[in-house]
Amino acid sequence: MSIVKNIAGIATGMSITMKEMFQPTEVENYPDGKGPMRGAQFQERFRGKHQLQRDENGLEKCVACFLCAAACPSNCIYIEAAENTTEVRISSSERFAKVYNIDYNRCIFCGYCVEACPTDAITHGHGFELASLNATNLVMRKEDLLVEIEPALPLEPKSNKDLADVLA
Ligand code: SF4
Ligand code: SF4
Repeated sequence: MSIVKNIAGIATGMSITMKEMFQPTEVENYPDGKGPMRGAQFQERFRGKHQLQRDENGLEKCVACFLCAAACPSNCIYIEAAENTTEVRISSSERFAKVYNIDYNRCIFCGYCVEACPTDAITHGHGFELASLNATNLVMRKEDLLVEIEPALPLEPKSNKDLADVLA
């Protein structure tokens, strides 16, 4: 009796499989699609790789307050603060983040850092291709996270590379 029951169960499962085989596919065309996302599509709320934002003057929004690092349950944000000077102004406040690292070996994309930030400096982007065979590649530095300055803005530094040169 149990053999008949098992065969009936398999037949039921196979009938569902056969029926689904002829339904239209729901799979995205990633990675062979067009555009920068290569066919991937996201809901607006998707939490991908973080972005460090700039204000309307091109200055960094991060003021090195450490609230994001304090809120992070995975302890994966590392920040070193530095003071702005009259010669080099990086953020609009007294301090800026000279070093801002996120260790994606540990990040669980909970969004607590984004919620904690008082200046909206850190947000989630839609970057998702983070897989690597080398764990050290998953420690993203400020230069990897910072959005580029709009080309029309006249302020210095003009790019993330210039920023790295200034901080070197
Ligand atoms: S998303 Fe969560 S785990 Fe990742 S850095 Fe932010 S607070 Fe930490
Ligand atoms: S990202 Fe926001 S919360 Fe984190 S140190 Fe910068 S200003 Fe503070």
